Amino acid sequence: MPTASLDALSDPARSFVSSGPQRLLIGAEWVDAADGRTFETVDPATGEPICAVAHAGTDDVDRAVRAARAALDGPWSTMPAAGRSRLISTLADLLEANADELAELEALDNGKPKKIAGIVDVPQAVAHLRYYAGWPTKIEGETIPVSWPDMFCYTRKEPVGVCGQIIPWNFPLLMCAWKIAPALAAGCTVVLKPAEQTPLSALRLGRLAQEAGLPEGVLNVLTGDGSTGAALVDHPGVDKIAFTGSTAVGREIGAATGRSLKRATLELGGKSPNIILPDADLKAAIKGSFQGIYFNTGQACQAGSRLFVPREHYDDVVSGLAEAASKARVGPGLEASTQFGPVVSSEQHERVLSYIRSGLESGAEAVAGGDGASEGNGAGYFVNPTLFTGVTDDMPIAREEIFGPVLVAMPYDNIDEVVRRANDTEYGLAAGVWTRDVARAHRLAARLKAGSVYINVWGPSDPAAPFGGYKASGIGREMGHANLDAYLEVKTVWTSLTEAPISSSIA
Ligand code: NAP
Ligand code: MG
Repeated sequence: MPTASLDALSDPARSFVSSGPQRLLIGAEWVDAADGRTFETVDPATGEPICAVAHAGTDDVDRAVRAARAALDGPWSTMPAAGRSRLISTLADLLEANADELAELEALDNGKPKKIAGIVDVPQAVAHLRYYAGWPTKIEGETIPVSWPDMFCYTRKEPVGVCGQIIPWNFPLLMCAWKIAPALAAGCTVVLKPAEQTPLSALRLGRLAQEAGLPEGVLNVLTGDGSTGAALVDHPGVDKIAFTGSTAVGREIGAATGRSLKRATLELGGKSPNIILPDADLKAAIKGSFQGIYFNTGQACQAGSRLFVPREHYDDVVSGLAEAASKARVGPGLEASTQFGPVVSSEQHERVLSYIRSGLESGAEAVAGGDGASEGNGAGYFVNPTLFTGVTDDMPIAREEIFGPVLVAMPYDNIDEVVRRANDTEYGLAAGVWTRDVARAHRLAARLKAGSVYINVWGPSDPAAPFGGYKASGIGREMGHANLDAYLEVKTVWTSLTEAPISSSIA
């Protein structure tokens, strides 16, 4: 029995979901897995299946990589830059035209509120495609002033090649856009592997890419599980892996790409410190810190999951956050009043609840939440926004990425102490500072070991602004110029301008 949530969908989303088992996009074709395997994607609001989806195995990975290679060697390489630009832009227009359906698919498959998907995920995916649609015509090499007489030396930027792109389930469509937009702009071709928990919007994107006129094989979509991703990483025909996901899997992929010397960019986990300074506007800090952790039910890589509060303000901040958490409306993503949806899967539900149990067992106190079920929410994977006090820096809830709506609030006494504790983590994705003192804010921003620092705000994102991790939070940057470069090789071309032979060499 498919999930009861289908009844809440509008016609386009329902007809997409009901159009039979979802297939793989390989080249121009929508095909079953070579071995016929399927899996079910599940509605986290009810725990019931939504529909069957093809499970790609190694043969399918091989076919998709070959299709991507043929496109790379064929029409995609000869298409003028302006043509790529126009196609990416058309794809953005099609996402925008189907925004409501895409927001519903995100709400159904991931559990997030449709309203949030409609104002964050889908428009940001569109913005991302539009930003990178501007780049193909601006990819320039350089003329190099070498010290050789009568020598002309220049660089060309060339696409890295066939890219395997593996993404997580927390922002399914947006992660697709983060990955494919710079790759296509650079002239690469793609085999995209969405997370098994949230395949639907990537499959819909595949159809829209065809509608936009992307040549066959430029974008292939393979649904499956971790073994599908691993087969992509191992395939010798793949030139680059772009991965967003957990640090544990990132380490495995980094090891494999290190051995094969494939290009790799890794966007991994975090346990980001959020520091309120004594002079901060406390009301704004409480509001921002609340969103900073609980947005997307805590399933955001840059979530501000460790809150540091000056001891003199600790009780006020904790009671402000606890009050907001107790009023939060937790419910199904397809219900209009929902503020926070369920977590994505039963595994994630159990993982988050086990961290909550570990916090309670180690002596921390849950002053908000601390439990799973929300009244009236049936068998869905709900977790109430949880706030812990009485936490020490060495507890697992203060050190490990929970990836759920769980915040630890800890008091501190001076700046040097809080900087040391904030940086005392293997992660380095983001950090936050709340203060009215501009000079202190920027001094602190320089001392925090994180790829993004937010001052009096948490988690803004823009396609033009680089995003990524220090330390175990990743290698490379998404967005902006930096991510375009990650899909380009630099070739240096030397030309002798003299008729007399020039002896080499510098090597
Ligand atoms: P995950 O378990 O690492 O999975 C991410 C993706 O990798 C999924 O598509 C997964 O497939 C695939 N995968 C699993 N094992 C693999 C293997 N051995 N080889 C290749 N691919 C494999 O992460 P998740 O639980 O989905 O996502 C949550 C994590 O992502 C968190 O740690 C979060 O911080 C991180 N994240 C980071 C960023 C960032 O920009 N830094 C952004 C968002 C999320 P299946 O799911 O199908 O098994
Ligand atoms: Mg799902």
